[in-house]
Amino acid sequence: MRKVTLIPGDGVGPEITQAMRRVVEATGVSIEWEVVQAGVNVMDEYGTPLPEHVLESIRRNKVAIKGPITTPVGTGFRSVNVALRKELDLYACLRPAFSLKGVKSKYEDIDLVVVRENTEDLYAGIERMVDDDTAESIKRITRRASERIAKFAFDYTLKEGRRKVTAVHKANIMKYSDGLFLECARKISEEYPQAEFEDRIVDNMCMQLVQKPEAYDILLCPNLYGDIISDLCAGLVGGLGIVPGANIGDEYAVFEPVHGSAPKYAGQNKVNPTAIILSSVLMLRYIGEKEAANKIFNATAQVIKEGKTVTYDLGGTATTSEMADAIIQKITPKRRL
Ligand code: NAD
Repeated sequence: MRKVTLIPGDGVGPEITQAMRRVVEATGVSIEWEVVQAGVNVMDEYGTPLPEHVLESIRRNKVAIKGPITTPVGTGFRSVNVALRKELDLYACLRPAFSLKGVKSKYEDIDLVVVRENTEDLYAGIERMVDDDTAESIKRITRRASERIAKFAFDYTLKEGRRKVTAVHKANIMKYSDGLFLECARKISEEYPQAEFEDRIVDNMCMQLVQKPEAYDILLCPNLYGDIISDLCAGLVGGLGIVPGANIGDEYAVFEPVHGSAPKYAGQNKVNPTAIILSSVLMLRYIGEKEAANKIFNATAQVIKEGKTVTYDLGGTATTSEMADAIIQKITPKRRL
């Protein structure tokens, strides 16, 4: 029995993780969930939103799947999501964005993967007030982190039989920090002559993705641009409700949807469970459960294509749990719900 850490998260997290859990279990795959809580709701009990036993659980099981966790704006604790990535050195954030039949979008046949550096850049939160009226934030980029994320992107490209890596940067303005990221990407690209390599300045990249997304394949980004470009790519394929994600390091992996905790929908059983269900597909592939992964992917794609039992963001009226039920019905057609 394979143990997997399950962090329900907050906001809409508990309802979508519950839907995902039922879908994964319907495949009959042999997984034992170790459920641990993190986020604002555990602050009183543990004095921290990321208790040590949560990290220990992931270190023990090596693999986790989580719902989104709210990060207060301004004052309050730092992001649990960022802390998890740093503590476990989950340096690669993988966010595939692909068109699904049945999802309303101005674009068809999109097939992009954002590979985002996950540990440094402005996201490291090295900030201070210089005086009462001046704040500053340090953008740190290192050769080590830039080279290893570039390697990850090229290895992924070859492993998945893809064709091209595009490095995204603003090295014309941030000549040292983004300049180093680009230099590292170029250097690593020379070790992978089988894959094409090119680079784009981030503002131009945004326009190109809107105008001709089919020209791109793997987008290799430093942390902050990767965060923004991921949401742009989610928009191209029909919204945040359907885009999965993975945070991967050399030892551990944590799977989660790209979207956040959507607080205004919390507890309403309303949001789309697809993003976390497809994150479980990435997780099952990662642990070698390809058959279960394929079953879930095909069932989810079919439910979305038919469009009868989908949530509001896909133009339907189904609840989160009804959409999960419809997916389960495709996985195990004879099962009574
Ligand atoms: P969000 O992704 O939570 O929601 C933005 C909007 O996208 C929602 O209002 C909703 O309209 C739509 N949406 C999101 N998920 C959806 C789903 N599953 N189905 C249908 N529609 C969906 O972004 P936000 O409002 O900027 O962030 C809310 C909180 O989540 C913040 O505290 C933020 O820090 C946190 N957050 C956490 C993570 C994470 O845990 N990895 C990621 C992003 C944001």
